[in-house]
Amino acid sequence: MKSAVMPTHKEEAEDEVPDARTSTFRLNEGVSHSSRAEDLDDLHRLQKSSTKPREDAVHQKHMDSISETLKSAARVAGPKVVKGEKKGLETTPSFKYTRSGFLRAMSDAGLKPTVVYHNLTPAELYEKAMQHEPGTNIVANGALATLSGAKTGRSPRDKRVVREPSSEKDIWWAAANNAPANGSPNYEMDEKTFLLNRERAVDYLNMLDRIYVFDGFAGWDLESRMKVRVVCARAYHSLFMYNMLIRPTPAEMATFGKPDFTIFNAGAFPVNRYTSYMSSSTSVDLNLRAREMVILGTQYAGEMKKGIFTVMHYFMPKRGILSLHSGCNVGAAKDVSLFFGLSGTGKTTLSTDPARPLIGDDEHCWSDRGVFNIEGGCYAKCIGLKRASEPEIWKAIRFGTVLENVVFDENTREVDFDNNAVTENTRASYPIEYIDNACIPCVGPHPKNLILLCCDAFGVLPPVSRLTRDQAMYHFISGYTAKVAGTEVGVTEPEATFSACFGGAFLMWHPMKYASMLAEKMGQHGTTAWLVNTGWTGGRYGVGSRIKLRYTRAIIDAIHSGELKTAQTTATPIFNLAVPTTCTGVPDSILNPANQWSDKADFDATLGHLADLYETNFRKYANGGGFVEKELAASIVAAGPKVKKGTANGTA
Ligand code: ATP
Ligand code: MN
Repeated sequence: MKSAVMPTHKEEAEDEVPDARTSTFRLNEGVSHSSRAEDLDDLHRLQKSSTKPREDAVHQKHMDSISETLKSAARVAGPKVVKGEKKGLETTPSFKYTRSGFLRAMSDAGLKPTVVYHNLTPAELYEKAMQHEPGTNIVANGALATLSGAKTGRSPRDKRVVREPSSEKDIWWAAANNAPANGSPNYEMDEKTFLLNRERAVDYLNMLDRIYVFDGFAGWDLESRMKVRVVCARAYHSLFMYNMLIRPTPAEMATFGKPDFTIFNAGAFPVNRYTSYMSSSTSVDLNLRAREMVILGTQYAGEMKKGIFTVMHYFMPKRGILSLHSGCNVGAAKDVSLFFGLSGTGKTTLSTDPARPLIGDDEHCWSDRGVFNIEGGCYAKCIGLKRASEPEIWKAIRFGTVLENVVFDENTREVDFDNNAVTENTRASYPIEYIDNACIPCVGPHPKNLILLCCDAFGVLPPVSRLTRDQAMYHFISGYTAKVAGTEVGVTEPEATFSACFGGAFLMWHPMKYASMLAEKMGQHGTTAWLVNTGWTGGRYGVGSRIKLRYTRAIIDAIHSGELKTAQTTATPIFNLAVPTTCTGVPDSILNPANQWSDKADFDATLGHLADLYETNFRKYANGGGFVEKELAASIVAAGPKVKKGTANGTA
């Protein structure tokens, strides 16, 4: 029927197209459009075109590899994994057309087939999550809103590391029961207990109707990246890791082979609490020899992302590459900045900067060739998010983004970012290319500036100060921030937190190993360090207020323009920090916090109290831990605050 109206001569073609269209309409006037389908099955088949089918050999390799991963440690054979389309196996229509292919696996018992979805796309994962995971909805901005269950944050106390010969001597072990805490997050477990938990997780996963496998990379540096496999029970978890890992190209997928590291996430299933070493129904277990992680009893997705980070914190320094809990961006002059800081201090907010392409918001490595991001996505805090102050993050929340634990209107599906009814820790996970000026590939040259962020709720640290190398080491090792204790009415006392290297929860080696590598790299590359307080100004929490994001951004701009490098400074008491006297875009009066307090004696006492907390915390690292020379260790200690006897405990 088309041929009747199609031009026959080439030279007529362009002119004839509009005519062809009108004549088609004329032809169809008064006649209803009907599909080309023969029947309903045919109609569904027509709806989806198929991209080139996977080569059988590649497909078979994936299946064998997944079968190997899902193998029970106690029983010899892995589950029987066969191709879904195979004749004789019952398939349901919804499986028939899955583009990325699905696999039908037999559980060990051989009684109940398990469908394994391998590297599904976001659209497919949306559908699966909405079909099978209660509390999962598409919201008005297109994101997938879901709930992480009972846990809405990480469970650091439930982390266990297998004590085994290949890594035992390298690990910074947590102090044994009854010994005073040394700050290490690495509580030990034995290999047998790991296998018990692994078996529990694998049996749980093999028992489910469907599981998800995502294969991706950690690390943008092609020489040091790790191939990571995530096996999980929820489509939400698979989409989260699709966003957070580096997504393989089809060619990389075809040659993926055996993963370097595997996470078994059986988070909906609890630990058996009679198992040794367990302290709750949650356990996150790391086995460096087997290169496996098992998650039981928590569905908080951030556990997987930070699990991979922890693994990188072991393997990268072993190869001389420094892993860092930091955001990272790069200016027009190819000047790279790293933003260190504990949770909520501004790594994501400040590294996401319209003027500076984003390399990453949370996890980086610094090698001999420069910096690279570990991740393929960002994980932004959402509480109080506003389009006006953080437009880049706002725009990144769209189709493909996972929104965790946010509250939305039942009818309009508009998200209320101010609502903390589920948790304060609401989050958005999106691929890094959702940020308009992402720097892809996420790599950059050696950093020029290190920005050490803290959120000082005591309100005594200056909004910005320039650090000497030893001060930079001291503050990096200290890893200070403050939180506001409790939410009960009337409780407004800030509480200091110290977390070594601004990421104590993820360290595998002694903090001094990372610190010594940082000192060396700073020296080699002439890097300047800054301490930026994104916390309270005009008095402590309850009296003053958090410094305006606008001012902090102006400070960051002045660091990048070079203005603050040559600015005149004055030294603060006790901490001896070099504070610029002026900074473009920031009122002079807030640069020196002492000026902001009405009660000067209270200021001095509070500053002294904070210095005392720093000093007490630092004692455990003062000897250098065998990683830095005694001399350097001593000069780092000397760069800390000078606690004056008498003022140290002089505040409430
Ligand atoms: P995490 O390690 O948990 O991801 P993070 O360091 O990335 O934490 P952000 O997600 O950037 O922290 O959180 C900083 C929060 O503080 C944001 O919600 C931001 O809007 C808010 N904020 C308020 N004032 C400031 C300021 N002056 N500077 C930076 N952030 C600020
Ligand atoms: Mn962040």
